[in-house]
Amino acid sequence: MSESKTDAVMAYYFTDHICRVCFGRVMTRVTFDRRRLYCCADCGVELEGKSEAAVCCCGIKLKNGRDAGIRCRSNDERSPESPFVIIAEQAEVS
Ligand SMILES: [Zn+2]
Ligand SMILES: [Zn+2]
Repeated sequence: MSESKTDAVMAYYFTDHICRVCFGRVMTRVTFDRRRLYCCADCGVELEGKSEAAVCCCGIKLKNGRDAGIRCRSNDERSPESPFVIIAEQAEVS
């Protein structure tokens, strides 16, 4: 009998990225068949992808398919107006 692998891989890990739909925290897990899934802790959207950008704001594209330049980053200056741990903001696109 081989051990079941399905139980050990259900752990989710927080990423430093936020959902492009609801700005909830993006979490990641690896499936038993080694696919990587990214999901939102709040709205539950879940997609397979190579990076957090599958679900998070970093993957937002313009209508022409180009990178919209939005990037998630940790919020160093949390305040009552912006209490979020991770925020998304416009970044320079090179
Ligand atoms: Zn969400
Ligand atoms: Zn991101």
